[in-house]
Amino acid sequence: MKRKTSLISQQMSSQRKRLVLLTVISLALGIAIVSQAALLAEAVQRIFVEKASLSSVVMLLGLLLAAMVVRTGLSYGNGKVGLLMAASAKTNMRAGVLQNLTHASMPSTLRGQTGGKVSIALDAVDEADSYFSLYMPRMMEAAIIPILILIVTFMQHANSGFIMLFTAPFIPLFMILVGLKTKNKSEEKYAQLAEFSGTFLDSLQGLVTLKIFGRAHRQQKKIERSSLDYRDATMGILRIAFTNTFMLESIVMLSIGIVALELAIQLLVFKSMSFHTAFLVLLLVPEFYSLLKNTGTAFHSGRTSMGAVRKVEQMLETTAGESKSVDGKEGLGTSDGIDEVDSMDRMERENGIGTLQMDISNDSSMPPSMILNHLRFRYAPESFELETGRVQLEPGEHIAIVGKSGSGKTTLLHLIAGLLKPASGEVLVNGQPLSDYNETAWFEQVSYITQHPYIFAGTFAENIAIGAGRNVSRTEIEQAAEDAGLAEVAAQLEQGFDTLVGEGGRGLSGGEKQRLALARAFLKRPSIILFDEPTVGLDLRTEQILQRSIAKLAKSATMITVAHRLYTIQHADRILFMDQGVLVDTGRHEELLKRLPAYAEMIDVQRKGGLA
Ligand code: ADP
Repeated sequence: MKRKTSLISQQMSSQRKRLVLLTVISLALGIAIVSQAALLAEAVQRIFVEKASLSSVVMLLGLLLAAMVVRTGLSYGNGKVGLLMAASAKTNMRAGVLQNLTHASMPSTLRGQTGGKVSIALDAVDEADSYFSLYMPRMMEAAIIPILILIVTFMQHANSGFIMLFTAPFIPLFMILVGLKTKNKSEEKYAQLAEFSGTFLDSLQGLVTLKIFGRAHRQQKKIERSSLDYRDATMGILRIAFTNTFMLESIVMLSIGIVALELAIQLLVFKSMSFHTAFLVLLLVPEFYSLLKNTGTAFHSGRTSMGAVRKVEQMLETTAGESKSVDGKEGLGTSDGIDEVDSMDRMERENGIGTLQMDISNDSSMPPSMILNHLRFRYAPESFELETGRVQLEPGEHIAIVGKSGSGKTTLLHLIAGLLKPASGEVLVNGQPLSDYNETAWFEQVSYITQHPYIFAGTFAENIAIGAGRNVSRTEIEQAAEDAGLAEVAAQLEQGFDTLVGEGGRGLSGGEKQRLALARAFLKRPSIILFDEPTVGLDLRTEQILQRSIAKLAKSATMITVAHRLYTIQHADRILFMDQGVLVDTGRHEELLKRLPAYAEMIDVQRKGGLA
């Protein structure tokens, strides 16, 4: 429970001054409300009961007007402070979310839907607004003003005070009951909105693929279902909110009626009180209930915001948890999506990759020695399992991971890269577990050339330059492009290196993209190169360029390739042969051919033109 409001209390404590201001304004507002009622009762008493002349009450009416102006001003002030608090809180939370996204560890960055993350950063934080702008000011008013009114009423006429005291608790009681119900609903709504945004954005990104494979219609159905679920959750909340309002109004009307009836009996039947007192109490009673009622509405929106804040909080905890030491004993959220994030996060902490402290200490230009020390990995329980035994990879070796499709080559590459964490065993780099290394320093040493490198929206030159991680000159970029065999591609582009590529820009072919990734690597000069060799056939020329460039880049680095080409396999210093998740054997091509029938068979298939 403590964790639930930690983000809110953190925001509150950083805005203590505004909270004090809110208290002072609420107190002044209470005094203004009581004064206004007292002045109005006095004016009515004088004008209608005592039939005083207008000129004798001018001063009184002037004061009444002043009280009204002050009251309006204070109400405005309260709202304004709330809005300021909300603005600061949202800025802080967004900064936190952004910080979290940019500093998250590589494995956690790779997880989850992009759309879901966007929805948290934008919508959930926005929804938190009403907690500060509405809930807090109203709650503060509710905590101060009704008590003030109650004291004044008791002083005027104790019976009315008792009636108010007796009926008032029904309002918060109702609020709490309904509020608790909406809280779960609103958390549900958030889970659904995040899922909806996620499904939508992910579908949008993969639209071409979906169309090609005739899956667009199915995805459309999925989006439709997701949007209907969201609608149902919203309608559910609205239904509760409307019922809530109806019940509150009924209680308030009934309570005011009872007080009025009692006042009338006292005034007319027993003649035991003055008109002034009765009128004053009658003016104060609706104020009292209206404040409590407003609190009801504020409470409802406050609860809705809590659902949103909780989402943000959970996201922030993901990194906080990673930088903390392993504790693995945290409460879990309620909705499924949340549980999953939490447990993934915990799994991650238990595996300990979050705490990467060490820098790569040796001369960074020297390739490190690496040992795969009895790695074991599973994506999910009861699924595919990977197992390596103990394998030493010498500095500067060119290694080919070979095996049938689905045998775990990519998974092994990701384990070596630190993109996945082994369930047991470890990758030792220069004798130290990879999990002890500082993540940034580690990735500075590594270039991973995937089959589908990411090209972001920007110029051709900018896309190459990100490889360096520092400011690079145009000459360096052009040299890297030259080394990667990209120079002639750039020369053919309309605006050369300044041509826009990526989303909204010119498209690039698979071979061009891989060479672009290579150019990035040339700028970076990594000591470890991970290469996912293209499975689909590139034209011979492109393939030769790629091969030549890779060979040049790999001269002074350890290169680990998921290999499909016979040429790569034959020339590798060492082959890691994978079969159904198990690293069966390692050695040079000729050695494996002799002693491993499964390997010989695979090579045979390869020679006949099949793909590994
Ligand atoms: P290869 O690269 O040799 O084709 P992979 O390492 O990609 O093989 O996959 C090995 C196995 O792990 C396959 O059975 C695949 O279905 C499974 N797998 C791969 N990626 C994931 C993932 N993200 N989640 C669950 N299972 C996966």
